[in-house]
Amino acid sequence: MMGEETEEHKVDTRKQTESNHIEADVAVVGLGTMGAMALWRIARRSARSVVGIEQYGLVHSHGSFTGESRVFRTAYHEGTRYVPTLLRSRELWHELEKDSGRQLLLQVGTLTVGYAEDAAVQNVIDSVREYDLPHEVLDPAQLRERYPQHAVKNGNIGVLDVFGGGMRPELSVLSALEQAQRFGAQVLANEKVLDISVDGPERVTITTDRRTIRARQAVVAQGSWAKRLSPELSRILSVQPLPLTWFMPHHLELFTPDRFPAFIRDEGGVHFFGAPSLDGYSLKVTPRHFHDPVADVSEVPAVITPEKLSEIGLLAQSFFPDLNPEPVHSSVHHDAFTINKVPVVDVDSTGTVLTLTGFSGHGFKLAPAVGEMAEQFVFGDEITFAAADYDIPAHLAALGQ
Ligand SMILES: Cc1cc2nc3c(=O)[nH]c(=O)nc-3n(C[C@H](O)[C@H](O)[C@H](O)COP(=O)(O)OP(=O)(O)OC[C@H]3O[C@@H](n4cnc5c(N)ncnc54)[C@H](O)[C@@H]3O)c2cc1C
Repeated sequence: MMGEETEEHKVDTRKQTESNHIEADVAVVGLGTMGAMALWRIARRSARSVVGIEQYGLVHSHGSFTGESRVFRTAYHEGTRYVPTLLRSRELWHELEKDSGRQLLLQVGTLTVGYAEDAAVQNVIDSVREYDLPHEVLDPAQLRERYPQHAVKNGNIGVLDVFGGGMRPELSVLSALEQAQRFGAQVLANEKVLDISVDGPERVTITTDRRTIRARQAVVAQGSWAKRLSPELSRILSVQPLPLTWFMPHHLELFTPDRFPAFIRDEGGVHFFGAPSLDGYSLKVTPRHFHDPVADVSEVPAVITPEKLSEIGLLAQSFFPDLNPEPVHSSVHHDAFTINKVPVVDVDSTGTVLTLTGFSGHGFKLAPAVGEMAEQFVFGDEITFAAADYDIPAHLAALGQ
């Protein structure tokens, strides 16, 4: 790893924008969720020149971060080992809010409704107990009284994660990119990376459709496109199409952020999640699964079929009887999934390239902490948060690699 440097040693990459060759300390490939956060964290530390490259315009509509809202939670369905990272992420979300002067995390809480014996609900309960997270556990009667929006079955319990809430994903990516630029990062938009080659420790050449970029380190955060430049990831990554659907309630006042927390519901193998109404007429209620994985982003279907939309509508109404079952808006997105949904945070054998991908439908909330892992990689710090959880050789081993 490189030693500390002073501001004077930084290469001023901003002067090189028109050049067909750029020299920088660090290059960040992909300025979606993780790339934007990595760029912000690295630039904020200010001792390295850093350039970010994005194939589309900034905060475009093709990435995994689009769709109005994301659910934030610290009591974690996916397992208690993520909790320290989530708590750190929460602090960093607040830091980005402070840096940008925008509210990005709406602290409305996140309500899990399910059966205590379900593994995901058990993980939520274990998280709040193990880490002493602020929460409330509600029995069916309390749930019905407090949250009449939800259809509650006998035997359901509710766990309100007080630190949970809704996030504004597009605004978050914009804020991270703006702040990165404010701290001196150079941003190259509408420029596609065609090749990344490690020429030795601290020497990486990135070839784009416009120029070459020579850097001492690279952070590669290509999301669902990762397999295109790193075919070896094909063995563990798939591209999962994910739907989003919005429905109009008959009583909107029941679903506004002051009354309706973000939520997750699992019932009969169906996983639904959503956020309170942010647009003033509808709310996002959406299932996780509607399509099998595809080999490449280009194969993600453009729309949800009318038959599937009707099916989703009836399911949404069964969880929230006040909803009109016809979706007022729907869209199809995607994320890179690993087989066990543990993200890929991997440093190559020369210590030159950090790969971030495979956030498996649950990465947005973790993004600033992942950006901090990129900062720790660049500055030679120990990757403190969840390093054991994200240990990639173990991850690959677990997948039989
Ligand atoms: C519908 C949906 C709902 C979700 N809900 C939640 C939720 O409620 N809570 C939660 O925590 N998470 C949620 N997630 C997951 C989360 O949004 C993703 O895990 C996260 O956004 C992934 O970020 P990423 O940086 O890996 O990918 P992206 O944000 O897609 O970024 C990848 C970037 O790399 C760029 N790129 C790729 N190839 C190149 C190239 N060759 N040259 C230049 N640039 C390139 C792309 O254009 C893109 O901008 C959800 C995801 C989806 C799709």
